[in-house]
Amino acid sequence: MGAPTTPATTGTPPRPIPGVHPASRALTRPRRRLVAAAAALVALAAVGAGSLLDLRTPAPKSADAPAGEFSAGRAYEDVQVIAARSHVAGSPANEQVRAHLEQQLRGLGLETEVQDTVAPEAGQLSGAAGGATLARVRNVVARLPGTDSTGRVFLVSHYDSVQTGPGGNDDAAGTSTILEVARALTTGPRPRNDIVFVLTDAEEACLCGAAAFAASHPLAADGGVVLNLEARGSTGPVIMFETSRNNAKLVDIFGRAAPHPVGTSFAVEIYRALPNDTDFTAFLDQKFVGLNSAYIDGGAIYHTPLDTPAAMDRGSLQQHGDNALGLAREFGGTDLTDLRSGHDATYFPVPGGLVRYPGWLTLPLALLAVALVAALGWLTRRSGRASTGRLAAGFALALVPIVAAPVAAQLLWLAITTIRPGYAELLDPYRPIWYRLAVLALATAILFTWYALTRRRIGPAALAVGGLAWLALLGVLLAVAVPGGAYLTTVPALAGALGGLVALRTRQTGPWPVVAVTAAAAVGVVILLPTVVLLFPALGMAMGGVAALVAVLLGLVALPVVDLLHPQAGGQRGLLALRARRLAVLPAGAAAVAAVVLAGVGLGVDRFDAAHPAPTHLMYAMDAGTGQARWLSHESDPQPWTDGYVDKVTSVEDDFPGLGGDALRTGPAQAANLPAPKLEVLADNAVRDERTLRLRLTPQRAVRVATLHVETVTAKVLRAEVAGRVVPVQQGGRRWGFGLVFHAPPPEGVEITLTLQRSAGPVPIRVMDASDGLDALPGFRPRPPAVGVVGSHTSEMLAVARTYPI
Ligand SMILES: [Zn+2]
Repeated sequence: MGAPTTPATTGTPPRPIPGVHPASRALTRPRRRLVAAAAALVALAAVGAGSLLDLRTPAPKSADAPAGEFSAGRAYEDVQVIAARSHVAGSPANEQVRAHLEQQLRGLGLETEVQDTVAPEAGQLSGAAGGATLARVRNVVARLPGTDSTGRVFLVSHYDSVQTGPGGNDDAAGTSTILEVARALTTGPRPRNDIVFVLTDAEEACLCGAAAFAASHPLAADGGVVLNLEARGSTGPVIMFETSRNNAKLVDIFGRAAPHPVGTSFAVEIYRALPNDTDFTAFLDQKFVGLNSAYIDGGAIYHTPLDTPAAMDRGSLQQHGDNALGLAREFGGTDLTDLRSGHDATYFPVPGGLVRYPGWLTLPLALLAVALVAALGWLTRRSGRASTGRLAAGFALALVPIVAAPVAAQLLWLAITTIRPGYAELLDPYRPIWYRLAVLALATAILFTWYALTRRRIGPAALAVGGLAWLALLGVLLAVAVPGGAYLTTVPALAGALGGLVALRTRQTGPWPVVAVTAAAAVGVVILLPTVVLLFPALGMAMGGVAALVAVLLGLVALPVVDLLHPQAGGQRGLLALRARRLAVLPAGAAAVAAVVLAGVGLGVDRFDAAHPAPTHLMYAMDAGTGQARWLSHESDPQPWTDGYVDKVTSVEDDFPGLGGDALRTGPAQAANLPAPKLEVLADNAVRDERTLRLRLTPQRAVRVATLHVETVTAKVLRAEVAGRVVPVQQGGRRWGFGLVFHAPPPEGVEITLTLQRSAGPVPIRVMDASDGLDALPGFRPRPPAVGVVGSHTSEMLAVARTYPI
């Protein structure tokens, strides 16, 4: 081995070697190259480890922590009381939770009251077909009056749980955090601004509690800053994932005042695009500004019986509390009169803090990245390291891994769910780490294989520039469409282009080219590695392809470092070159083997058992008029246990309009001795073409929800009122075109006034109510230990319906 030899692709020895990346030109000796590769990789690994360590949750503080601090140990005592059992809105268990919350807040000397009202849902949740969803709610509201208030700070969480589980995390985490923050705030000097603690009801049903507070509570009349606290899992860092619009000032305070600020403007964009909702939605109007935070890893237990206090990672609780307390103190002392900026901020976590810059910089930065990558391409060509043709080929070919990695990740998950169909009903597997690593190994294998195949023909320089070009272009695309996410590709592209330019301009025999490209790759690691890690729990394995895509983008930024693992391009001929090429396949092969092994380990380790049951969905619906009953399931490919109840696919919209029009599995069931809700006519007046009915809908047993649907092919609904509130009326072409859904109906029933277009005969009105729990039903066989319950709002539901011709 000696001086670089002439590669076969050119015929003029004195010119620089085409296809040799600047960083590697000094490294013609294999040993030096290997040392450089090792140094660069160790540096990147250290940066990556630092980024990931920064996402770790803090150690939970014990119950004897100083009074002014947040203690997860103290908060956890409340978690155990709140989440002792399932406490769905309207249930006696929820009343006990409410009594505990009132007692705790009053015990702190806070002005505490219960807002007891009927409220419509917030946002656009699925509910009634062409009608309205409402609930009777009882919010617990307490106030710590400020010394010289400039506005109000609202700490919000919901205290109700789903019917299927005790809500140990969702949202005993938020509720217990607020109690502990309230305690800590009352021990120190009083803040300048009013702090209002809002523990809402019926979030799981319809966000109705938050909607009631935001719309009609006197303390909400002037708006203010809302800090909503949630949990959609059991562990992981608390992520500030949603903000009000024009968030720059809020994000600045978040970065300054939250001790562990994890949040990214990309999450805000993802969340705006997802159909999920929290109480925060109810506050997203003119009066309020605010931040929404949650921990989301460990999503397998979400809304299931496994969401118990014991499942909670108290480090996540500590982070919730540290951040909420820090923010409450900061917002409590800030002039709240003008927290809205003219723009959204771009922000993302880096070790030690939160980087933030104004959103209006997004497009200029994206264009600058494009310009710098173009300059790098031009200089690369001028220096003879790549021809125009090769640069074009590098650009075109870089699209291959960008497309192939996400597709392969999705196919991998398809294969895994074919082997284990139960995963289809889970937000994430119980032990997702093996599958996450498998996806990363797969993305790595695809990138390395692609690189080994293209590198010799196209050359490292052209491929590196081509990869950066895609990142820069994606940055422009994102800046226009999803500005909060543009930093993900713009900043690494900027760094990569700068690194490349430095590498080109520094002395090729020194260490600087390697240092420059390694530093650029490090920027990519800092920005993209936490994104990959946070995307997995955010989107679940079913969308693992998105994480694979980001992983490949990271790989493209690090391509010049990856290149050091390969023998120097054009450096050898003959046998040596052959050997070198064989060696170049090694990293790709190793990654491919790792992907298969990791997926296999995942399947071996993450088996369903009593502690990690396979989720199943079953409900029961009976027509009290005909005495016909059936089992129903939402499972598209029913598990063996569910198969014992259902066979055919059907829609029950005609018989049970309250259950919606989804395709369900169904099977015959024995009739149970259960009464349908009563529908009484309190008044029936006809004036000209209109008929006004005053009705009372009264469940005859303890139920979670009651519905009423009008057969609008017989009579059109003109106006409707529920519990004295006018509700919107719109009816589609369905048989039961108008419907009302009422959660947590009081035992004395709900009064409903309908104004109908006069019809010739009686109008069929279909009513239904639903309770939870199938255990007492005839023909129900309890689940074996390894079979669990899907965390959905209809799991274990027991519905009884009948039609009243009126
Ligand atoms: Zn929930």
